[in-house]
Amino acid sequence: MIVTRFAPSPTGPLHLGHAYAALYAEHQARRAGGRFLLRIEDIDTDRARPEFTRAIIADLAWLGVTWDGPVRYQSAHVDAYRAVLAALAARGLIYPCFCTRAEIARKSRGRTPDDAPLYPGTCRDLAHDLRQKHLAAGHPHAFRLDMGRARALCPEPLYYRESGETDQVGRILCHPERFGDVVLWRKDSPASYHLAVTHDDAVQGVTLVTRGADLRSATDLHRLLQALMGWPVPDYAHHRLITDEGGARLAKTTGAAGLRSLGLAPAAIRARVMAGFSAHG
Ligand code: GLU
Repeated sequence: MIVTRFAPSPTGPLHLGHAYAALYAEHQARRAGGRFLLRIEDIDTDRARPEFTRAIIADLAWLGVTWDGPVRYQSAHVDAYRAVLAALAARGLIYPCFCTRAEIARKSRGRTPDDAPLYPGTCRDLAHDLRQKHLAAGHPHAFRLDMGRARALCPEPLYYRESGETDQVGRILCHPERFGDVVLWRKDSPASYHLAVTHDDAVQGVTLVTRGADLRSATDLHRLLQALMGWPVPDYAHHRLITDEGGARLAKTTGAAGLRSLGLAPAAIRARVMAGFSAHG
């Protein structure tokens, strides 16, 4: 059975881009007689706000989106994410990183696929004593995946199946190493997006991950986490991103208009959004 999900981060009101993502996921499940889940990705303690969670749920209901089963809140599952980190750490795949953003930016010699400075590996080679000293002194730290070791444990080519609205569909070869030693546990808030999202898709039995094309490269990394943890590999359908009249991507951070302020009835929004799904979607 097909299981999809919509997984918004509650960092702003629901806008047209969200409506596209939610209806796309719902449509993929309903047309196949499958299940559609709602997950609130509220572990970013800097940006997630309970009032946005309430507003998102109310706006989805207003739009006529209906999900199966209870809503999953990531903030209620931090212990499960910690257990994943511990399992990876027990295999020597995780190390603490004490670097500041400024230090990383200064020493970095490349960019990751999501356009962050590639981590130069400073703390990977930290002498054991020095690492223990930093930890004992309570210096703030993130935890990173040792990509070299992770790849050595999973040396075979990794693939996933793509059926979305991007230019490449079919069997996609992954290049997780392009992310370098990614952060899996953040300094300032719990688990990284990558760890939490991949864990949750596995435990919730999601078989078709639908999400925006901006997250396509991250899937390479998620595929590696699946291989390391022995999790099932879902299919993926990355959908196009809604842009405003000027062609800029609608993002919560640029103050995209909330759905209800568009002055359109829910049925009109649904019709407009779903008319945009590509023919094969
Ligand atoms: N929570 C993420 C976001 O709102 C989406 C995660 C996903 O669908 O994989 O951007």
